Amino acid sequence: MKSLTELYDPTAFRESGHALVDRLADYLESAADADANPRHDPEELLEDYRNLLDKGKVTPADIFEKYIAESLHLHSPNYMGHQVNPPAPLTALADLTNGIINGSTAIFEMGATGAVMERLVVEKFTAMLGLSERAGGFLTNGGTLANLTALLAARAAKWPGGDSWSAGNGDLRPCVLVNEQAHYCIDRAVRIMGWGEAGVINVAADDEFRMRTDLIDDTVSAAKAKGLTPVAIIGSACTTSTGSFDDLTAIAAAAERHGLWFHIDGAHGLPVRLDPGRKHLLDGMERADSLIMDFHKMLMCPGLTTGVFFRDGGDAYRTFHQQADYLLSFDTREEEWYNMGRRTFECTKNMMSLRIFSLLACHGEGVFTDYVTRVNGIAANFANALRKRPDFELALNPDCNIVCFRYRPVTTTASASDLDHLNAILRAQVVAETAIYLVQTKLNDRTYLRCTFTNPFTVAVHTKTLLEAIALRGRALSEIRIAV
Ligand SMILES: *Cc1c(COP(=O)(O)O)cnc(C)c1O
Repeated sequence: MKSLTELYDPTAFRESGHALVDRLADYLESAADADANPRHDPEELLEDYRNLLDKGKVTPADIFEKYIAESLHLHSPNYMGHQVNPPAPLTALADLTNGIINGSTAIFEMGATGAVMERLVVEKFTAMLGLSERAGGFLTNGGTLANLTALLAARAAKWPGGDSWSAGNGDLRPCVLVNEQAHYCIDRAVRIMGWGEAGVINVAADDEFRMRTDLIDDTVSAAKAKGLTPVAIIGSACTTSTGSFDDLTAIAAAAERHGLWFHIDGAHGLPVRLDPGRKHLLDGMERADSLIMDFHKMLMCPGLTTGVFFRDGGDAYRTFHQQADYLLSFDTREEEWYNMGRRTFECTKNMMSLRIFSLLACHGEGVFTDYVTRVNGIAANFANALRKRPDFELALNPDCNIVCFRYRPVTTTASASDLDHLNAILRAQVVAETAIYLVQTKLNDRTYLRCTFTNPFTVAVHTKTLLEAIALRGRALSEIRIAV
């Protein structure tokens, strides 16, 4: 009992909590020139943490200090890697609060406060994104689960004859149409629904990696000729690798023509609707039956925080018609919006609405617009800098905060695969030897370097340092002909 009394002791919490907040504030202060990427060998790191676990008698400060020092540092302006944003410190305070209160939100009685904030957050973003007043939705754990949830709603709404929730897929061979550049979680969702490999029909992409919407009609006909039943078409807004936005207006029209559910995977790019100079990239989104958006990629929340929106909020209730009488009452025909578990995959769900609610309530919706506009602007400036350099090539003009490019020596007879090799080496060297973290991707089988600008404090100095770091190493490698 003594151990439990100690564990729950408010005095100890007060002490270590104050110290921790001080430490985190120090981290934020020092982030301005921090190394974004403490490099690790998986086996060594495992051993190191195993030792810590076995040591006994470590203090909370010992553990947190290690975790802070040895993790990726998203608050460093040198972080230009994957699509994860540095959480606003306020959202961390929200999480700390919820870490104690633990408001789970399956049913109202257990999570009343979370449920009402979730409804208000969804209402607010529905309006900010320009969706209609009939729209509604909820929050869930990540884009992957959100896409699956929306596709289950599509299945419920568009299933030809019968009820797949009760009867299963039967003999039907359903499928969805999606940009070949779409995130792999669409493929997973379809396979989880039991539609197999044939359940995803990839529509070819154009030179800028957008879905070739001119191919949709023929693709639908070809699928039907093969005995498949198209149920939904999915727009990518945007694609993960290149940040390209599908033509949502054209997809909406095709969905209407063919009676398909129109879903938008806006995990990364839906917030671009808030950027006045780029909002047109999402024209047509209001015609989608369902849309998803991560708040942890371009809206300053920690992961996972994802919104699922339905043009007709009532559609959200169709996904899971399943009895769980001990939790949910189906006696009433009312929607019971406040019993969140009716619509979400999760039963107990971590209460994530406080993160967004506190940002909205304390800073107003303008702070989201400022953030999105800012990070997109950083990418546009970086693309301009790349265009001016003869030793770099831009893969495509960036639509948002994702930029793909590569180093290409000015005078080179290197083959395409030599250049792939060279760029992979350059990326590895820059990550190993500098404070900067960036990633790489394959486009049409060629290797490109890839930056996602999620830190609003990344400025020209940082991106110039990146280009110099690459060019310096690129010249050296080219001269000694290691790579080319
Ligand atoms: C990141 C991403 C996902 C996956 O979202 P998670 O929140 O990581 O599960 C899905 N689709 C697109 C387009 C993405 O960029």
